[in-house]
Amino acid sequence: MNARAIDSTAATGGDASSRLGRECFHAVSLYDPDSTPYEIDLSDNTNLWGVPPAAQAAIAAIGIETIARYPAPYASSLKQSIADYLHVDPSMIVTGCGSDDVLDSAIRAFGSPGDRVAIPDPSFSMIPVFARINGLEPFLIPLGRDGGLSASAFNESGSRITYLCSPNNPTGTSLRRADIDEITSNARGIVIIDQAYAEFSGISLTDLVDEHEHVLITRTMSKAFGLAGLRIGYGIGSPDLVREVEKSRGPYKVSVVGERAAVAALGEDLAWVGSHVAQMKLNRARFIGALERLGLMPLPTDANFVLVPVANAKQVSELMKNDGVAVRSFENLYDIGGAVRITIGPWDMMDRCVSALASSLQ
Ligand code: PMP
Repeated sequence: MNARAIDSTAATGGDASSRLGRECFHAVSLYDPDSTPYEIDLSDNTNLWGVPPAAQAAIAAIGIETIARYPAPYASSLKQSIADYLHVDPSMIVTGCGSDDVLDSAIRAFGSPGDRVAIPDPSFSMIPVFARINGLEPFLIPLGRDGGLSASAFNESGSRITYLCSPNNPTGTSLRRADIDEITSNARGIVIIDQAYAEFSGISLTDLVDEHEHVLITRTMSKAFGLAGLRIGYGIGSPDLVREVEKSRGPYKVSVVGERAAVAALGEDLAWVGSHVAQMKLNRARFIGALERLGLMPLPTDANFVLVPVANAKQVSELMKNDGVAVRSFENLYDIGGAVRITIGPWDMMDRCVSALASSLQ
């Protein structure tokens, strides 16, 4: 498969009925995940052990009167806590309403309508949407099943913005550092590296922002930190770069409750996060063993999920849902075909998942 610009409604959903919005919105539809409650939900890569204790205590301690006032416009206490966590200066941090907000704001800050955004295929499904709603063109470049990327395809794409994701969603693989370095060193514009799953891989790429003024790393507190419902994400980059993202993002995007809980989590909950990452890795290895005994061949993963190629992925996930276990199905992924993506959580959940998957395959 060759690199390709995508412009059909099939690429991002598409909502042909609405012609009221900007033209670039026509190929975009609302995000519509299956929100039926399932007994076991392994579909969204959140922390299935729940919310860490210091964050819970911080939420309980919030005086209700604080809610009547606005938060700090750019979440200065949270920036300081993130900076301490990553050992960088607070001027290198931008926060947002989830890392989705930081990614969207960054694309808007650095791309003009008509510019290309180079995106590995497959990768995080929201990026083509963020490109489109800001008037930019998603340009997909194949990602090998082994995580290999063609640096020259990226560098020859003429993209104003390059998006990379490591570990990558939905494959779980980490990109090769040599590919990242080559793409970054030769990129014409801004390089965004999405590290939503960094805590699970233990591989931080923040050193890149010291070397390159045009690199923005994004991270989130929705995964290892167990705070997805509070919507806290952030970016790390040179002070000049993150200022532009902040302008694009606008003030007051992190709520009072979100900021307090996130600050607490980045202080006293680090041991909790570390021990649950370790538990996840043990369960992941055990789960992969169980999948292999079923004759399945999951992709190598550095994240808190595994991608399992299966024939009839949609049917498999429907049968599993009937059994009370939700996983995310994908069709026609480049180099993979159909697959189900399964979040790793406590072992009782994984055990139920193995049984549901085994019966769905019969
Ligand atoms: N990047 C990747 C790769 C993701 O998988 C997700 C969530 N699924 C996000 C970013 C966005 O996460 P959030 O907005 O919750 O920070």
